[in-house]
Amino acid sequence: MATQPELTIQGWGPADPAPSSGTDGGLDGTLPKAARRYLSRELGWSPRPTRPVAVDDIQLAPSRLPDEARTRLVGLLGEDNVRTDRESRLRRAGGKSYLDLLRRREGDASDAPDAVVLPGTTEETAALLAACSELGIVVVPFGGGTSVVGGLAGVDPDDRPSIAVDLGRMASVQSLDVPSSLVTVGPGMRGPTLEQALDEKGLTFGHLPQSWEFATLGGYAATRSAGQNSTGVGRFDELVAGLTLATPSGVLELGHPPATAAGPDLLGLALGSEGTLGIITELTLRVRPKPATGTYEGWSFRSWAAGLAALQQLARHDLLPDIVRLSDADETRANLLMASGTGAKLLRGSLRARGHADGCLLLLGWEGLPAMVRAREKAAASLLRDGGAIRLGTKVAQSWKKNRFHAPYLRDRLLDGGLLVETLETAATWSALPTVYDAVRRALRDSLTREGRRPLIMSHVSHGYPTGASLYVTVLADRDDALPIQQWLTGKRAATDALLGAGGTLTHHHAVGADHRPWMEREVGPLGVEVLRAVKERLDPNGICNPGVLLPE
Ligand SMILES: Cc1cc2nc3c(=O)[nH]c(=O)nc-3n(C[C@H](O)[C@H](O)[C@H](O)COP(=O)(O)OP(=O)(O)OC[C@H]3O[C@@H](n4cnc5c(N)ncnc54)[C@H](O)[C@@H]3O)c2cc1C
Repeated sequence: MATQPELTIQGWGPADPAPSSGTDGGLDGTLPKAARRYLSRELGWSPRPTRPVAVDDIQLAPSRLPDEARTRLVGLLGEDNVRTDRESRLRRAGGKSYLDLLRRREGDASDAPDAVVLPGTTEETAALLAACSELGIVVVPFGGGTSVVGGLAGVDPDDRPSIAVDLGRMASVQSLDVPSSLVTVGPGMRGPTLEQALDEKGLTFGHLPQSWEFATLGGYAATRSAGQNSTGVGRFDELVAGLTLATPSGVLELGHPPATAAGPDLLGLALGSEGTLGIITELTLRVRPKPATGTYEGWSFRSWAAGLAALQQLARHDLLPDIVRLSDADETRANLLMASGTGAKLLRGSLRARGHADGCLLLLGWEGLPAMVRAREKAAASLLRDGGAIRLGTKVAQSWKKNRFHAPYLRDRLLDGGLLVETLETAATWSALPTVYDAVRRALRDSLTREGRRPLIMSHVSHGYPTGASLYVTVLADRDDALPIQQWLTGKRAATDALLGAGGTLTHHHAVGADHRPWMEREVGPLGVEVLRAVKERLDPNGICNPGVLLPE
């Protein structure tokens, strides 16, 4: 079985945490006092214990995998690699969205697969897919299980039995070509394991989404994820030089580094395909030398509009740093007020004194060769000052860097206290971004305000491009204990309609999954959907590959 730590069933973090793990900031099971105080005031929320049911009490229907199918799969993969036991199925039930967690915390695992299988090679995966196609078994590839858009929901219009294909056995480095800066890996490998392997050679991959501890490289490719080194090595799809896709109709080898003009880019069809065309069984990725130096610093703007205008200037002059994160006033205030310690207090005082009490925090990071970093930083600083920004120094950015993987742990504590906590994201051109921002906030506020209590809506830009930027929104609200799922579905529907209406994309990096599929036709048009369906029909004629995601019903 996988040697990488398993993710806990009802929340975030390793299923078997090391005894010493868990320190401050809510990682040890408590919500920091400053956060509780701030959120109670802001949301009209009274913390109340809403603990998850015991894992043993989660309801799981009996497996529907027919005996004939089980025998066939055991013949292909071996007894150990075909599992129908309760724990294996529960651990692969759905992903980690707010709705996934609500269901699991309430004891509902109706989306669990009927079995879990673990192929070890491309050949085994291809044979497995061909057999499932013949047997009419739905196949859902399972990487780290961190989807936040219902990517693992396993929904099938024909209600056929389904299996989760766990890629944990294919998690090693297969080759490293240092002169070409290319590494070839199995899809079940996670970021920390890859970084460890590369570190020995003075190399790094550098893709760091917040789910980095548990998400897999295959999952990144299947969802076109984006990491926190936003503008530097942010987009995973830009780091893929080639991949192998096993489908029910055969195996495709895609991509030809360093570059090719041999027709349209078929590699692009596999990236973002979310398991609908088959299973990615191997990836060749671009790596780079570990940066010789890194500089991280904070700046403040009086307003969101001033911050956006300055980022646009940096983008126009090709000066966007490797890490860019501009928080709006609500996110800046919340982060400063929820942080405990004297550092945050001093910073709040200093911002007030300089007329930036309601300012917007900008975190920047430059990485690479010292001379390049110095030159880029200097040129960017001059543009930022022209845009009205004040420099806050390095501490605030260092503190973000240190704590950047903590938020999902904190989310569990907020759920325990009776809060709705969810995120959504989009991207838009520089001209459309302010309208998208206003539209999403209005939609969320109108749809989630209950009995005069408003949600807290915090936004930031974290990926800049010459033509525009991404927008990431975190929503907190007092949970409707009677109808919690309906409450979020209402907010999500309103926000998605609003962002599409204002010119945003359906998703900048979370993917489509089951949650966004009703809007997919609005994103790519009816002909676009037909083209995707035609490709699927050729590769997956019996529609067994993750039929519940991406393409509209
Ligand atoms: C706390 C948290 C923080 C997050 N932060 C970020 C972030 O910063 N940036 C970001 O982009 N996303 C983020 N996500 C979303 C999620 O981590 C990404 O979508 C990630 O790429 C999913 O990888 P995974 O290995 O967990 O895939 P899974 O969740 O297992 O699967 C995701 C989808 O891809 C398919 N799939 C998985 N592996 C394969 C394969 N080998 N072949 C074909 N299809 C496959 C699955 O069937 C499913 O449809 C976050 C999620 C959480 C819970």
